[in-house]
Amino acid sequence: MIVTIDGPAGSGKSTAAKGLADRLGFEFLDTGAMYRCVAWAVIEKQVDPTDETAVVRVSQQIQITFSDAHVLVNDKEVTGLIRTPEVTEVASVVAQYPGVREELVRLQRDAASGIDIVSEGRDQGTVVFPDAFCKFFLVADPQERARRRHEELQAEGKDVTVDEILEQIYQRDQRDEQRDVAPLKAADDALEINTSILTIDEVLDQLEQTVRE
Ligand code: C5P
Repeated sequence: MIVTIDGPAGSGKSTAAKGLADRLGFEFLDTGAMYRCVAWAVIEKQVDPTDETAVVRVSQQIQITFSDAHVLVNDKEVTGLIRTPEVTEVASVVAQYPGVREELVRLQRDAASGIDIVSEGRDQGTVVFPDAFCKFFLVADPQERARRRHEELQAEGKDVTVDEILEQIYQRDQRDEQRDVAPLKAADDALEINTSILTIDEVLDQLEQTVRE
């Protein structure tokens, strides 16, 4: 059984997807981490992120492994390394390339084969798992999304303003919504939930109740 959770950056989908997978006893797939792994490898190999052919080649050559809460690229632990602002930026660029998406969509379908899973990303309900059992699309006001991200970064000791984050979120949204392949949008049969004024428990209650109905 497959449950998909899509939505823009900072809409709360990672926390919601992890929490829902825990409540249901399902596996959890963070597909954004896969795009981040490609971005990390591109930076590591000093490939120009605008060189589409070279980036696609990198995506075909690396091996991405999820092991508990750890992410590995060719056996190197990259769990923390894929969360830097630079990787975040490059991930949103490489995610525009059809060849990269084709490769990662194949890996995502393989990962979900034969198991119960909550899969989180931008295109899970629209492209990767169009026949999913249950689909959600989370949204939140940009100000609220920036505020949450600011809180996370401050906890990590990083010094950025809410306005800077708001600008980055806006640029990532634009790229995700306007790209030619798999643009960010809700599947026709997805339930849209605005998380701006909900606590995480309220979001999880709503998701769990909908799946179990
Ligand atoms: O969700 P996260 O912020 O980790 O995703 C990193 C980037 O990967 C996003 O900015 C988006 O451009 C891309 N992405 C995507 N499709 C997915 C998941 C992520 O295009 N299914």
